[in-house]
Amino acid sequence: MLKQILFGISLLVTLGVFAYTMRQLFYNFRFTKPKKLTDFGQRLLVTFKVAILQSKIMRFPFAGVLHALVFWGFIVILFGSIEMVFDGLAGTERMFSFLGGFYDFLTGAGDVFAFIILISILIFLARRLFFRVQRFYGVEMKPVSKADANLALSFILLLMVSLLGMNTFYLLDASAAGRPLVGNYPVSERIATLFQGMSPEQLHFWHEFNWWFHILLIFVFANVLPYSKHFHVFMSVPNVFVSRIEPLGVVDNMDSITREVKLMLDPSLAADAPADAPPSRFGVADAEDVTWVNYMNALSCTECGRCTAVCPANITGKLLSPRKIMMDLRARMKEKGPGLAKNGLQYDDGKALIGSYISEEELWACTMCNACAMECPVNIHQPSLILDMRRYLVLEKSAAPGGLNAAFTNIENNGAPWQFSPYDRLKWAEDLSMNNID
Ligand code: SF4
Ligand code: SF4
Repeated sequence: MLKQILFGISLLVTLGVFAYTMRQLFYNFRFTKPKKLTDFGQRLLVTFKVAILQSKIMRFPFAGVLHALVFWGFIVILFGSIEMVFDGLAGTERMFSFLGGFYDFLTGAGDVFAFIILISILIFLARRLFFRVQRFYGVEMKPVSKADANLALSFILLLMVSLLGMNTFYLLDASAAGRPLVGNYPVSERIATLFQGMSPEQLHFWHEFNWWFHILLIFVFANVLPYSKHFHVFMSVPNVFVSRIEPLGVVDNMDSITREVKLMLDPSLAADAPADAPPSRFGVADAEDVTWVNYMNALSCTECGRCTAVCPANITGKLLSPRKIMMDLRARMKEKGPGLAKNGLQYDDGKALIGSYISEEELWACTMCNACAMECPVNIHQPSLILDMRRYLVLEKSAAPGGLNAAFTNIENNGAPWQFSPYDRLKWAEDLSMNNID
């Protein structure tokens, strides 16, 4: 009974802290702009392909396959973790064994996956610690970003060691105590041969130790994740579901501007047009101007750097890094969110996303090639956020680079980006012989 009480208290504390953190993070969605989702069937297909089958991550085959195995392994192992929670609350052992053959399959797969994940994490850690993988570096990758990645990998490593330890000592403990063995443990069976000489008391102690160590580690890890880039463990699947399904090059129009242009082209529409309130801001200047999808993107970024590795601006030495743009939005929302919650949308802390976090130079370096969005394993669309920040600079600050300002003026005056009158457009053809064809 004492075990059940202790377990219940640990579970309540875990859920309480987790709910508190989630409330902080998700409260910030209130300050974002709306964005409509359509085509749910297509979204489900994209989620299956990109999130479940991990299709985009396979473009780097070695790391991709290992990551996919870790992801699929986690899904299988989740079954065992849920069983542990029920066992902990009810004071039972291997409660789901009534599932028979299916239980044997899941426990067997979980045991094998625990070993595969353990090896994969050792490789990931070695890559980070001993090899200079270029995309793990960059101005945005501060020491804390690296420590965060290494800490999360160490957590997962310990989780797998304790899971295999729990299975191993479960086999030995249950056999020594004459309890029936349930489930299937192909890897742990082999490890168990190393511990044959231990006394029944020692076997029972190490079984209990690994059980508690594993479940408490899950509880602590679940509460560390939201403060880490590994929050993508929770966010990546929903993020892929809400991600853009239009072709990458399609540019979203600004509704308010589209309406104005239509009215200019056909003033007769003005009589029927509803008098919309002017938008509070054109484009994005700060965290509260982004849509909820932009913010979700920022929460889902794995900081993998695949976007920055293919960004032509970054490769040619410009300041722009699409990974930094997403990390900056996440950091800015975290910084300003509490103030917005307390003082409302008018709150101003004297800083902004543009200027304090992201420079104009970074924004104008983007070629809108969409390579970053193409590569992102969680389907983040960085160019749309960059474009919206540029829109703010142009429409509210008139702060476009000189060349663009000249093109804008020409479009306004001549209907084309060139400095020639529209009446002169066909001058180039005046001397052509085909003019004389009658
Ligand atoms: S769209 Fe912009 S940020 Fe993305 S890869 Fe191309 S240049 Fe880089
Ligand atoms: S935006 Fe996408 S590709 Fe870039 S670092 Fe984040 S998750 Fe990786």
